[in-house]
Amino acid sequence: MRKFKFLFVLPVLGILACSEDPIAENQESAEESQKNLFNQNLTEVAYPDQSGPTSQVYFAGQKLPVEEIKNAYVYQGDIIFPKNMVNLQPKKVVYQEGDTPQKSTGRTSGLWPENTVYYQLDSNLSNQERVYDAIEHWEKNTPLQFVERSGESDYIYFTSGAGCASYIGKIGGRQEITLARGCSTGNTIHEIGHAVGLWHEQSRVDRDKHVNILYENIENGREHNFETYEEMGYDGEEFTTNLDFNSIMMYSSYSFSKNGQPTIVRNNGSSYSVQRNKLSSGDVKGIESMYPSTSVGTPEEPVEENYINGEHYTLSGLTVLRYNDSWYYGSMFGWRKVKLVRDNWYWV
Ligand SMILES: [Zn+2]
Repeated sequence: MRKFKFLFVLPVLGILACSEDPIAENQESAEESQKNLFNQNLTEVAYPDQSGPTSQVYFAGQKLPVEEIKNAYVYQGDIIFPKNMVNLQPKKVVYQEGDTPQKSTGRTSGLWPENTVYYQLDSNLSNQERVYDAIEHWEKNTPLQFVERSGESDYIYFTSGAGCASYIGKIGGRQEITLARGCSTGNTIHEIGHAVGLWHEQSRVDRDKHVNILYENIENGREHNFETYEEMGYDGEEFTTNLDFNSIMMYSSYSFSKNGQPTIVRNNGSSYSVQRNKLSSGDVKGIESMYPSTSVGTPEEPVEENYINGEHYTLSGLTVLRYNDSWYYGSMFGWRKVKLVRDNWYWV
């Protein structure tokens, strides 16, 4: 039995760069604007100075609203999809006629096996201490361990870039986290959060119970950054019961504001502050659910329930098809039979 390898994993490049306030744009240097972002706005943005046409792309069967900038698709401001990894048209589902939606996985996809994240630093990256400090923070507070790579093929490569960026979850092979000079240790902790599978906190499907989005204050063309996963057809999985304002993955009240007015407020209308210093207790709880420290053990046979043949289900981070009383996964190479064993999928 071979351990299942995820072929469809959402890459999320959480780029932390500066979010340009249009008013401040002409008055501040790029560096000042970046400081402004990091100190006040705390919104991670891939290309702070640029915007592009918005469109819909398909990734792993999901329809995602994106912005096209610099030959890449930017999603939710700091998440980048390489163009060669998305489709402009939805992929067809092999075993279903018509357009049965193939739902994909939430933040349980692309997990690092055995709670171990391999990494390497670009020797030219400035201020490498922020990376080591961020890693130390993760290791102290979560079940994850970070190991400097020695030949492993799947690893995070910390390098410099225009903003701060990371894919979401393990995508296979070398995956970059880019860190501009202005990215702090806290920003690095945030980007590592993406790399191990965390989405932005305000995209939770239940966020409207906690916050109101003020679309009238959002920069034109950036409204899509405020959709929940449900609104864009994504079935994200939540690991805590409430929206966590203290999450290091939470947008600020002023993210993508075009007029200095809040874009996200609490249900009572008040703004709130966010932090980029440390993982919150909610962040840690989520990571512990995704990476239980007991996950390294002897696999047991799964308990099969009454699943309906012909239906799709998202279980343990993978969207699978129930067919002929077995599970099938629609990989890019076709449908292959898989088996769920103690929260892990295996090829059969
Ligand atoms: Zn981010």
